Amino acid sequence: MPDTKFNLIAGSWTAGVSEIENRNPSDITDLIGLFTQASADQLEATLDRARIAQADWAGYGLERKQAVLMAIGAELMSRAEELGTLLSREEGKPLAEGRGEVYRAGQFFTYYAAETLRQLGENADSVRAGVEIDVRREPVGTVAVISPWNFPTATASWKIAPALAYGNAVVWKPANLTPASAVALAEIIDRQDIPKGLFSLVMGSGADIGQRLVESPRIDAISFTGSVPVGKGIAAAAIQNLTRVQMEMGSKNALAVMDDADLDLAVTLALGGAFGGTGQKCTASSRLVVHDRVHDAFAEKLVAGAQAMKVGHALEDGTQIGPVVSDRQLSENLDYVRLGKTEGAELACGGARLAMPHDGHYMSPGVFLNTRNDMTINREEMFAPLTSVIKVGSYDEALATVNDTRFGLTSGIVTRSLARATHFRRNARTGVVTVNLPTAGTDYHVPFGGRGDSSYGPREQGRAAAEFYTTVKTAYISAGNPA
Ligand code: NAD
Repeated sequence: MPDTKFNLIAGSWTAGVSEIENRNPSDITDLIGLFTQASADQLEATLDRARIAQADWAGYGLERKQAVLMAIGAELMSRAEELGTLLSREEGKPLAEGRGEVYRAGQFFTYYAAETLRQLGENADSVRAGVEIDVRREPVGTVAVISPWNFPTATASWKIAPALAYGNAVVWKPANLTPASAVALAEIIDRQDIPKGLFSLVMGSGADIGQRLVESPRIDAISFTGSVPVGKGIAAAAIQNLTRVQMEMGSKNALAVMDDADLDLAVTLALGGAFGGTGQKCTASSRLVVHDRVHDAFAEKLVAGAQAMKVGHALEDGTQIGPVVSDRQLSENLDYVRLGKTEGAELACGGARLAMPHDGHYMSPGVFLNTRNDMTINREEMFAPLTSVIKVGSYDEALATVNDTRFGLTSGIVTRSLARATHFRRNARTGVVTVNLPTAGTDYHVPFGGRGDSSYGPREQGRAAAEFYTTVKTAYISAGNPA
């Protein structure tokens, strides 16, 4: 049996009250490790310590803080192959994606290392004679970071890096499906020149330790990425303590393919957007809104492309689509396939459990044709390697269909028309919009977030993150007469 990996409680690696097994979704006979689960007392202890550590950290010099973030980022980037392999082994995304995620996580830290030195305020003259005003940002205090399994290292990093850069303590509760990547990142952070207890790792179930964390009056801010129902519960808990909250949740992203599009490009974008990460991306292209003049040609190429994609073990060469993350998720996906057929959609390919040499949660990428936007498969997030084609008769109908959703994270258009691209960019009701690019795949130095049920609270990433991780102080100064 492997050793159990511990939590980082009040600055010490500590055994919890129970443990969970972490198994490889590409091959469930591969036991990755055992991971402890925090107790309520341990959560309290780490919150006590975090408050003290945060005051110390806020007092560190700027360059000292900057060096900490830079070192974390550099280590993640230099170990991207090793940690990417671990990530792919426990999450199931192909190795290239796992490696890329860890490298990107490193870039979040190096970006916010630089931002540590760029914390500029504002100044102004008062309307009162002889009075000056100084506006600057201060840390909020202790931040709870709650992250999902689908981007276990990157999502956590785009929250932890700005939280630390802006002077806060962090208590991180990762998803229980991906604890190994969490421990690896926590070990890197723990080795830095930071006050004991500034950063905590509290692995545990969402319903237990997650819920206690968001209900704690000692948390000053909660940054959450996950599903809509859990997000709504967190918001309800947070408001009891007037804790500030930022949430990135579900989506139903659409890629509009116009009759003037480069069709091969459109098919490549659709396949990558729909099936990258096994479709388990909040930015996945789950609705393909296609102009009727190119519909049949597009559908034919799309189905052929989906059928040609290689599903396999995440760590094997040539794998384009890894397994679904868990057996439960796979069952839900297959329920959606049945539902789509019941609703009258035509399953043109895939959408089935696959038997492979390894015992994993494999599923073939599925394409639904002849779907309507009011079908449940086009309303609810499936988080699966499934996509739906919706035929439309005009650009206007395409835009209306893209916007006809309660979500609003990303959207994209494939067109050679500047007029359509410009109009779409300005009228798509999503937080991210792309032109001749996939709906998935964003940068780290600019804001990220959505509208509607996709997001709540200030934007993440880039300089926009300062809005959430700091609080503004306005100082009035009367210096008096120098004489
Ligand atoms: P989830 O909502 O089930 O869990 C997310 C995290 O919340 C986990 O760490 C979980 O343990 C924790 N949690 C669960 N119940 C809790 C509670 N009562 N209190 C506190 N914490 C609790 O989501 P998931 O299945 O891990 O991830 C998939 C979801 O994440 C999808 O809906 C996807 O769209 C969303 N997601 C969104 C974005 C985005 O940026 N919009 C990015 C990635 C994933």
